[in-house]
Amino acid sequence: MAGIVMVFDFDKTIIEVDSDNWVVDELGATHLFNELLPTMPWNSLMDKMMSELYEQGKSIDEIKEILRRAPIHPRIVPTIKTAYALGCDLRIVSDANTLFIDTIIDHLGIKSCFSEIHTNPSYIDQQGGLRISPYVDFHTCTLGCPPNMCKGMIIEKIQASLAKEGHKRMIYMGDGIGDFCPSLKLRESDFMMPRKDFPVWDLICENRAILKSEIHEWADGKEMEKIMLKLIEKIKIQESGKMLSNEHCKSDNIPNAVLPQPLRVHQ
Ligand SMILES: [Mg+2]
Ligand SMILES: [Zn+2]
Repeated sequence: MAGIVMVFDFDKTIIEVDSDNWVVDELGATHLFNELLPTMPWNSLMDKMMSELYEQGKSIDEIKEILRRAPIHPRIVPTIKTAYALGCDLRIVSDANTLFIDTIIDHLGIKSCFSEIHTNPSYIDQQGGLRISPYVDFHTCTLGCPPNMCKGMIIEKIQASLAKEGHKRMIYMGDGIGDFCPSLKLRESDFMMPRKDFPVWDLICENRAILKSEIHEWADGKEMEKIMLKLIEKIKIQESGKMLSNEHCKSDNIPNAVLPQPLRVHQ
């Protein structure tokens, strides 16, 4: 549906693992990563790890090969393809990086389904190693967002750009602490889909009253598919109800159609 914007987190939402951890673990560098983690922000550490591993002889091709093996639930790719085929506008907002995400979605054959990808920029430097830069150098958000990215700010930017295109309904899917801030930016007509028993779900359960959107939890790709299709159908009915209601208003002599009421469902 043209009026629906779907925003996906990437790690542990589209793929089953955290792509940073997956690459570091598969390259046998878990110990070094854990040793350095207390000394610097995650994003800077990933940049450093990539340089270190490159010096140890790990090539970009090797990293890409590892990324293509990242585990994913079998229903995720069909779900994304269906949503795209139904006309939804799909976007990714992620604290991974461009090379990791591009490599994986290209491999899965879903790259063309996404109209925008907001993530940390990565590039191959003159020596041939992968460098990862922060998405932003600074932000003032205090809602648990990492220093290099506030997803809430990204959602506000997307909302501002969509405002010119008329009324849009947003569906946001995520699992992590960094997905809590954007969930607070969603509006009453939007939908938050937190992954059950993951950090964002805990935060939402504790702070349910301050979320304006409907909340629909999901546990795996199969459930994500089921809920997403249900929400698309529900939005379609609500939007056509509104159109009908507007027509009735114009004609004056027919009572307004009864609009489906938004439900605050906890499934
Ligand atoms: Mg995630
Ligand atoms: Zn934030």
